[in-house]
Amino acid sequence: MTTGYVYHEIFGWHDTGTHAGLFPSNPAAGLQPLVHVENAETKRRLHELLVVSGLADQLVRLAPRAATEEEILRVHDRAHLDRVRAESLLPKGGDAGDGLSPFGQGAYEIAALAAGGAIVAVDAVLDGVVDNAYALVRPPGHHAEPQTGMGFCIFGNVAVAVRHAMAARGIERVAVLDWDVHHGNGTQKAFYADPDVLTISLHQDDVFPPRSGYRDERGEGAGLGSAVNVPLPAGSGDGAYLYAMDTVVVPALRAFEPQLVLVASGFDASAMDPMARQMVTSEGYRALTERLLDTAADLCGGRVVMSHEGGYNPSYVPFCGLAVIEAMAGVRTLDDPFLPIVSGFAGQDLQPHQREAVDAARSLLK
Ligand SMILES: [Zn+2]
Repeated sequence: MTTGYVYHEIFGWHDTGTHAGLFPSNPAAGLQPLVHVENAETKRRLHELLVVSGLADQLVRLAPRAATEEEILRVHDRAHLDRVRAESLLPKGGDAGDGLSPFGQGAYEIAALAAGGAIVAVDAVLDGVVDNAYALVRPPGHHAEPQTGMGFCIFGNVAVAVRHAMAARGIERVAVLDWDVHHGNGTQKAFYADPDVLTISLHQDDVFPPRSGYRDERGEGAGLGSAVNVPLPAGSGDGAYLYAMDTVVVPALRAFEPQLVLVASGFDASAMDPMARQMVTSEGYRALTERLLDTAADLCGGRVVMSHEGGYNPSYVPFCGLAVIEAMAGVRTLDDPFLPIVSGFAGQDLQPHQREAVDAARSLLK
């Protein structure tokens, strides 16, 4: 397989500033300054592991370009774009919209490059330059809604790339699988009434955004049935995720028959992540990827494009990303040194209450 890879060092320069993890530091409230949880390290270290492992040498490097205004406006409204651009000119930057998503000066250009990175990956796959592609972009995108940024996301990178594929490249049916541990609310909202875009989100039940991603969110109007949500109980590991893949994701994809599949690829469902409570291992991510690629090979010539989302453990995210991109490229490089520990966590196998949750989601498939 030939796998495209989008990265640019400036993604690491998106400045989320000094924070007490999630909130602005505030001594009066006891919030001691630290870094923002969404900082460059997880992504930068994934890139560096790709280089050090030798995998980067086996990928086709694709240079990102900035998404144009027109491309961003296919998903977002003018007021959101203009506000981000105006605040991005300020010496101390601004916030994407929810008070949790700070950005520094110049963030507009970096966010446009992230969305454009996903577009470049889609174009390379549609043009047959590569078989599949991974866009390691930052800031992430899947929480950004048409009218506001949210959850560390400024623009919906995957949503912008989907609309590009449809508006500029003549693709008629696109599926999005979101395996970030948080609900892919932004992508879902962008296509909620659109029968031609299937959005599937596997996430930990009710983490972020609050009260979002329930099973009964299934789309509306002509799009009813084209949103699929699989909220998984806290503590779900490789067994639960693979069961969800086999019994919900793959059947939903086969029924929908997409011409292109995008993945909102977060690694915060990992066993080592500080922002959620799931237990997926690098081998779990590899297996999810292999099953997706097999399905996509049958349905759409293997046209799979992944765009990076969350994942907050700087030492483990790189091995999860390495496993996914190795699977996409069909090669092996380094073993995951953490695997003997995390694969031994009790409850990695599918548990009865997890099976129940996945079966309930399956029962709602169109
Ligand atoms: Zn996330």
